[in-house]
Amino acid sequence: MSVLSATYFHYEEAAYQVVETTLWPHGPVCPRCGSLDRLTPVKGGRIGLNRCGPCKRQFTVKVGTIFESSHVPLHQWLQAVFLMVSSKKGISSHQLMRILDCQYRTAWFMTHRIREAMRSGDLEPFGGHGGTVEVDETFIGNDRTIKPKGQKKGRGYAHKHKVLALVDRESGTARSMVVDDLKTATIAPIVRASVAREARLMTDEAAHYTRVGREFAEHGVVRHGKDEYVRLDDPSVHTNTIEGYFSVFKRGMKGTYQHCAKKHLHRYLAEFDFRYNNRARLGVDDAERASRALRGVVGKRLTYETGIGR
Ligand SMILES: [Zn+2]
Repeated sequence: MSVLSATYFHYEEAAYQVVETTLWPHGPVCPRCGSLDRLTPVKGGRIGLNRCGPCKRQFTVKVGTIFESSHVPLHQWLQAVFLMVSSKKGISSHQLMRILDCQYRTAWFMTHRIREAMRSGDLEPFGGHGGTVEVDETFIGNDRTIKPKGQKKGRGYAHKHKVLALVDRESGTARSMVVDDLKTATIAPIVRASVAREARLMTDEAAHYTRVGREFAEHGVVRHGKDEYVRLDDPSVHTNTIEGYFSVFKRGMKGTYQHCAKKHLHRYLAEFDFRYNNRARLGVDDAERASRALRGVVGKRLTYETGIGR
């Protein structure tokens, strides 16, 4: 674990310093009353403990973050964040349990909280200024919330989780989500809300894209059913970027996360979106990626009740 040699992965004071400079770039802020002034470290108190003069309450940088009310030391949290953002497929709760020598339940909860931190709140439509947006869907795992209707096991995709994803080809970023089904009534509103009207939309020939496709500047269609992957008369018509995205996601989900309940799948998607959108090819190195994930820890508290699996 030579990559984890930095002091903030091992010493609590150094870890607090990293989190404080990341979340409070202009100095401490009282999370209770918002005061920027008369905040003083508590002498002889816990590491990172401050006292607010105006509201007279005590706080650390953990208040209001995914780290709040966790008994795990901050330097171990930083290890977990770094490991999750720097390995291509992410790390499983089992791996984290072994690395931190903690209970499985603790590791499970940490990985899910870190996925929450990676979740982007960005709702800006893709493909503004006439950019190109690829949209496609894929199937993964088994959705145990769906009762089989006498189908033969292993055939079709009705029993699988359905994932819809979009890639903005110009910025090289992706956004993915869990969908209940692939009906036009489900897919069209998502495409409409996520893609700018002036965009060039790229999809396969699936029926759920046909009508909504007319609402965009252009709708390029490749006929995967006829083994067409790039249109010969216009090589810019393809969905190969998003297929590449799905292949990373699927390899990761297969190798690292064997089974995943539907209610947690959106967090795994957020994790893969995050790493894809902050990848080395876009000029983001491991340290910067960790720092960006850290900036997302605020306001993403996951309660034990909603977060924990059975
Ligand atoms: Zn205050």
